[in-house]
Amino acid sequence: MKPLITLEGVNKYYGDYHALRDIDLTIGEGEFFSLLGPSGCGKTTLLRTIAGFETVSDGLVAIGGKDMAGVPANLRPTNMVFQSYAIFPHLSVAENVAFGLRKRPDIDKRTAVTEALSMVGLAGYEKRAAHALSGGQRQRVALARALILKPKVLLLDEPLSALDKKMREQMQVELIKLQRHVGITFILVTHDQEEALVMSDRIAVMFEGRIGQLADAETLYRRPRNRQVAEFIGKMNFLEADVQPAAEGYDLRVAGLGAVSVAAAQAPEPVHGSAGVVGLRPETLNLLFDGETTKQMLVDGQVDEVVYYGDMTYYDVRIQGVEKPLNIAMKNVIGRPVLDVGAPTRVVWDPRALVLFDRNG
Ligand code: ATP
Repeated sequence: MKPLITLEGVNKYYGDYHALRDIDLTIGEGEFFSLLGPSGCGKTTLLRTIAGFETVSDGLVAIGGKDMAGVPANLRPTNMVFQSYAIFPHLSVAENVAFGLRKRPDIDKRTAVTEALSMVGLAGYEKRAAHALSGGQRQRVALARALILKPKVLLLDEPLSALDKKMREQMQVELIKLQRHVGITFILVTHDQEEALVMSDRIAVMFEGRIGQLADAETLYRRPRNRQVAEFIGKMNFLEADVQPAAEGYDLRVAGLGAVSVAAAQAPEPVHGSAGVVGLRPETLNLLFDGETTKQMLVDGQVDEVVYYGDMTYYDVRIQGVEKPLNIAMKNVIGRPVLDVGAPTRVVWDPRALVLFDRNG
């Protein structure tokens, strides 16, 4: 990865409020990078800091090896797509897109607009009135306008949040294709973990102005470094565990499951002391149905709650020695019944799916 954007020791205060705390970050050329986190964690502030709409209180922001201190937003090699699109409804599509060129009389408008519109799949829409477009099409006009100046970095602040679920999923795929096609760096702000997982090469998960973990989607999901990240990225069951360091990992005694050994890699951060918590994603657990056998580990349980989703059923299953029922996601397969509340069952679990956390981590 060739670095394009570097942030070193970035802090941002709004008065007394410490909105960004010691951010160190490198974003690569051509990378699809996401800033993900709950409301108020500072992701928009970080994006605006890169764009030049906010000044940093302390630290370095460099783009292409150049310190951006004192460089105003319009002179940075970045462009921003806002949540609201900021499309002018009384103008045509072409006029909206050409608005991105207002300070560049040197560029031939018509060719640039045609090129930008074809990039976002709206070739031939030049004359259409902007108010006569669907939400998804408006979003594409906003993208075309932001891309027309061929920035090195496109900054996207919750660009899909105004769209309905189906349209959002469609635009996610389109944005990935667009990013691959144009090859420039995209930085996306989102509070939607699924959106970040689907779209990004790498994701920075933020909490309270800090980066909690920076990794690719699979690492974040399978090896979250602490419970806060684990809980933000999807669902996870947590069970108390006694921990003994072993030669190549840890020996554990897990509440409800018993004795098991795990590899060092299953504890993304080293565990100090003897108190731990193990995490298990709902889809790594299975139920054993009548007539089925397994060589894997089993524990007896009882169905406490059933939520049927069509393709999946989510079960809460009580096991002995654990207060909170285990959440288990089962794919619905022909020939397997949906169990009723109260039914006895057996839970199949795989020690390799355990993630070990420090209890205080
Ligand atoms: P959301 O998803 O809700 O937009 P966010 O993670 O993008 O949240 P930011 O907009 O970056 O969060 O805001 C981070 C914190 O800084 C919030 O507590 C917010 O209230 C505060 N903040 C943001 N802008 C300002 C400002 N101009 N003046 C004072 N406080 C601000």
